[in-house]
Amino acid sequence: CGVFGVIGVTDAANFVALGLHALQHRGQEAGGIVAHDAEQGFNSAHRFGYVRDNFTKQSLMETLPGSLAIGHVRYSTAGTKAATAIRDVQPFFGEFAMGGCALAHNGNITNAMALRRELIERGSIFQSSSDSECIIHLMARSIQRNIPERMKDALRRVEGAFSVIAMTRTKLIGVRDPLGVRPLVLGRIGDEGFVLASETCALDIIGAEFLREIEPGEMVVISKGEIESSRPFGPSTGRFCIFEHVYFSRPDSIIGGRSVYETRRQIGVELAREAPVEADLVCPVPDSGTPAAIGYAHESGIPFGMGIIRNQYMGRTFIEPTEQIRNMGVRLKLNVNRALVKGKRVVLVDDSVVRGTTSRKIKDMILDAGAAEVHFRIASPPTAWPCFYGVDTPDREKLLAAQMSEEEMREWIGVDSLAFVSLDGLYRAVGEARGRNSACPQYCDACFSGEYPVAPFDQLERGFRM
Ligand code: 5GP
Ligand code: SF4
Ligand code: MG
Repeated sequence: CGVFGVIGVTDAANFVALGLHALQHRGQEAGGIVAHDAEQGFNSAHRFGYVRDNFTKQSLMETLPGSLAIGHVRYSTAGTKAATAIRDVQPFFGEFAMGGCALAHNGNITNAMALRRELIERGSIFQSSSDSECIIHLMARSIQRNIPERMKDALRRVEGAFSVIAMTRTKLIGVRDPLGVRPLVLGRIGDEGFVLASETCALDIIGAEFLREIEPGEMVVISKGEIESSRPFGPSTGRFCIFEHVYFSRPDSIIGGRSVYETRRQIGVELAREAPVEADLVCPVPDSGTPAAIGYAHESGIPFGMGIIRNQYMGRTFIEPTEQIRNMGVRLKLNVNRALVKGKRVVLVDDSVVRGTTSRKIKDMILDAGAAEVHFRIASPPTAWPCFYGVDTPDREKLLAAQMSEEEMREWIGVDSLAFVSLDGLYRAVGEARGRNSACPQYCDACFSGEYPVAPFDQLERGFRM
């Protein structure tokens, strides 16, 4: 999911709409905005579909006045696989004795089932099936006298990944979980405006200046042009999601002081060093494989070419929630550039192999078009474990790398050779010159290593075995 909030500007909701549009790649199912105006109080709108199809209508935007607003773009992840209902669409809202609070969450709470059970037993009435709603109910039960303190109380009980943006009548609040698994950045706009957003690309679109990242375990409370920072969870070291670098974030965002594009290009360089091959053409699976393919071509000296063309009017396939739509998606979205690949030995570069179904179809299309050989190169290690921190990977049984060896995968996909970048190679590409520190890994890489930095409590209860 993607979150965005702004304070201290006129018509804040319009800025939020733009910010969410820039974060649309993080969630395409639905979006919502809550705004606060001194006279008209809180107003909200929640809609299915793209930001541009909903939050561009003047008639709707006029209902969201005020100088403070937050928003959310959603895609459903582990635990909430059922079709999204409009009541699952964030931001969520709670009315407390000291006033209202709206809240938007990116990530996944790993003890949500246990919390929900406990809260329901004690009288909470849930409105949605979302794990994020727990936070509002925990806040309602806190005895603290102001909303930021209530949020701290609530979040201390929550395990897992959360980058949360919240707002009261006068404050914009941002928090990251102690490991800082999901991103959250702070920006400045105009004379006294501040912005919180999942990624820096959402600051760029509104012309905001990037100030810094919210740190893992940090809470910021912004009001009247001032920022108050605190550390509600005590000291901690971050374990940022390494897959944000590989796939999830937009390539024009800056994470940890590094360009995501440059990191992806560097993964391709590592791949070319680790898994060279004699070939005539390096070709990305667009768009997710493109920067790595550029790096591979540059390092290997093999010419780069767009052997697969993407229809720009399709979204990201993996974010479509059902398998059937995802399967159709491949053909609707990608087509082979026959004239280019015919007779060539092709190095095909993609960001990841998950189920392997896309990969197999793309290979078929390339061979049908007359390619002489297909060598598949993957810009991440084999995805052998599901993510429980906010990226929608399927159950372990459906992950190709959980079922097969690399040679079996090569045969099943049907390519002449298959290679994945090593975990160390990936760490080098994100700027860790000495690779992965296995005693104390610098990132979360559980989907590749199986080392979960926070126990996936709900999943263990459901029978998942680490
Ligand atoms: P596959 O060959 O595993 O079906 O699909 C791999 C391609 O689709 C990659 O380009 C990857 O970006 C995307 N993809 C498909 N399904 C998923 C999924 O469930 N999770 C993730 N992270 N990526 C996926
Ligand atoms: Fe990111 Fe993978 Fe960790 Fe999930 S398991 S947070 S996708 S690195
Ligand atoms: Mg892809």
